[in-house]
Amino acid sequence: MTAVIYIDPLMIQPVINGEWHRIRLTKLPAPGQIITMLCEASGPAMFRLSDDERRRRGIPRQCERCDAIYRRELGIPRRLGTDVTGAAADLSQPSSAKY
Ligand SMILES: [Zn+2]
Repeated sequence: MTAVIYIDPLMIQPVINGEWHRIRLTKLPAPGQIITMLCEASGPAMFRLSDDERRRRGIPRQCERCDAIYRRELGIPRRLGTDVTGAAADLSQPSSAKY
């Protein structure tokens, strides 16, 4: 019998330089295949189990641009403290100064 390991594409959030991103996948990429995130960052795919090594590298930050695009696509209100591009808002400036 086969032991199938199902991977939910919504749970795949590639990490590039300590930032985790969102991506649209319809199938698993081949190792080394260039994949492009919602924010258009890209890199070759590499697979690793989430283990102690990952924890030692520190907790990845969320890519604000991917999050904003993902939320907009699903009609989820954007998080407070982010502007329409998904960049973290500069809270030191009055909001009227940004537009
Ligand atoms: Zn991103």
